[in-house]
Amino acid sequence: MSEQRDILPKVQAILLQQNLDCTVYLAGSVSSGDERPDSDMDLVVLVPDADRGTFPGGRVRDRKADFKFVDASFEGVPLEIIFMTPAAFEQLLVAKPWRGYKFLEMEILHDPQKIIASCKARIRPWFQDHPEAVTLWKRWLAEHRDRQLSRGQKMGEIISRFPDMMTDLWPYLDVQFGASHAALEYRTVRMADLRIDYTSEDDPFVQETCRALRAALKFLCEYFGLKEAFPPVRVILTPNRPEFDRCVREVLRLEIEVPSLPSRIAQPQRTDLIVLSPRVWEKEYNTYSPEDYRRLIAHEATHIVEEYLSPNCEAVRRWWSEGLAMHLSDHWRDSPELEEVRRCVVANQVPALAEIDVAPDGAGPLPRKAVKDAYVWGWTLVKFMETCHGRETIRQVVSACSDGDVFRAAAIDRPRFEQEWKQWLMAGMWVQSEEKPG
Ligand SMILES: [Zn+2]
Repeated sequence: MSEQRDILPKVQAILLQQNLDCTVYLAGSVSSGDERPDSDMDLVVLVPDADRGTFPGGRVRDRKADFKFVDASFEGVPLEIIFMTPAAFEQLLVAKPWRGYKFLEMEILHDPQKIIASCKARIRPWFQDHPEAVTLWKRWLAEHRDRQLSRGQKMGEIISRFPDMMTDLWPYLDVQFGASHAALEYRTVRMADLRIDYTSEDDPFVQETCRALRAALKFLCEYFGLKEAFPPVRVILTPNRPEFDRCVREVLRLEIEVPSLPSRIAQPQRTDLIVLSPRVWEKEYNTYSPEDYRRLIAHEATHIVEEYLSPNCEAVRRWWSEGLAMHLSDHWRDSPELEEVRRCVVANQVPALAEIDVAPDGAGPLPRKAVKDAYVWGWTLVKFMETCHGRETIRQVVSACSDGDVFRAAAIDRPRFEQEWKQWLMAGMWVQSEEKPG
């Protein structure tokens, strides 16, 4: 048993003795059993409404003075106490029951008016009716426990502050289960062989998406010498991240992390493309400009055309796919990847081809470094191959490579290619080719 657990009965005894009108429950790591020796003990105290003035958000003036045992710590255990009014508390959890999953397991220390007990009784049936919400919570908790604990952070910190959390779960659930979700209505626009589904808020992006996609498909069909017309492509322009995730999972039937990472803003699969509205991109990861948006759509269109032409898209190496998409969409221009290439070339830290050309082992995801390298170096390899061996070789690889071995499909001597590619990078040839074709 932990030190925090040891002192709990004493805390409870004092609460009883004092005959306080407050409700007290235990939250955070001690409540969920994840405490470490240095963990705080988190207590939430509900103070009757009429008591004192309230602060915004339902927090009430500190009543620490009423708690004899309450300083910054009790018997050496640091205490973190949140004071709230029962009304604010109800507002928080009963109005938005999906937020209360962790709350269901929290331990009641003192509840003379049965406030907590009745809240739990109202939240529990909501989760019984919404098993998908339970699944989201469990997945989120498991993913973030792994991610954060591996960095030595405490579970309590994760739940209360979501440090380094890519997306906050509460707002995500609010959109997913709140009234705004039910009101989602898609409109459809058809233009030749394109179909765009969108909600009214994204009206401003519809023309842009159509134009970018048509131009990209036209270019790609010419580039790859496609004789037949490309099959119809559908874009779903989703208005928020929960809806984006839902479409990726339910329309594309792809397993992705939920909530998905903020850097994930588009997902293609066969002739479908799910795009997250630029209105809700997180600025830290992606910023919207018409040119960047055009490149993004062209990048995803390249994946769609490559998948269409590939004899075995499962075997295609990540660096080849991303390299091709970045090269043919000009996505590498003004990109962080270009900066990284510049930096490595100057510092003489260009990786060996073997580090980039990694085959998926089938058992799990590609190692993180290989994924990063695919974006940073892939386009330089494809660009160099096109420069030296021509478009015909690129076509050949895309339409004939069925085992992931790009160099065999291209009939290129790999060691020599690697050497020349490095010389090309060092000589700054890629800088010259940066000039826009006229
Ligand atoms: Zn891509």
